[in-house]
Amino acid sequence: MSAVVLRGGCRCAALAIEATLDRPASAYTPRACDCSFCRERDAAWLSDSNGVLRLVQRDDADALHCRQGSGQADFIACAHCGTLMMVACEMDGRLYAAVNAHVFPGAQFAPEQPASPQHLSPEAKRERWRQLWFAEVCVETTG
Ligand SMILES: [Zn+2]
Repeated sequence: MSAVVLRGGCRCAALAIEATLDRPASAYTPRACDCSFCRERDAAWLSDSNGVLRLVQRDDADALHCRQGSGQADFIACAHCGTLMMVACEMDGRLYAAVNAHVFPGAQFAPEQPASPQHLSPEAKRERWRQLWFAEVCVETTG
C-alpha cells in the first residue's frame, strides 16, 4: 500500500507542513486533548509512528516555540497568525512529534476522540509519545 501525503499550513501560510502517513487519513483518530491550552487553540493531535512529519518555515522567526503543561514538550505555533501546528519532544537524541489535525483542512480523519494526557506522569507521557508520535520529524528553513 502506498503512502498518503497530506499538505497543510497555518492560516497566513508562513508555515507549511507535510505529513506522510502509511494508511489513509480516515484510519486515523485525532486526539482532542482536554487541557485548557489545547482547547483554547483548537488542537486535535494526529500522529503515525511509521510516518514522516516535515515542517517548512522561511526562517526561525516564523515559528514560536513554547513549553506548557509538564514542560517536556515543545509546542510550535506560527509567530504571525498563532496557528498551533505541532508538538515535539526530543528523546534519546531523536525528535518525536504530533501534528494538529486542523492544519489539514481537506483531510477526512476519523471522528476525534477526547484524550486526557494531563493526568499521566511525565514518564508515562514520554513513553506514550515514543509509541504514538512521528519518529521521523524534520524542520526545514527555506529562507
Ligand atoms: Zn501563520
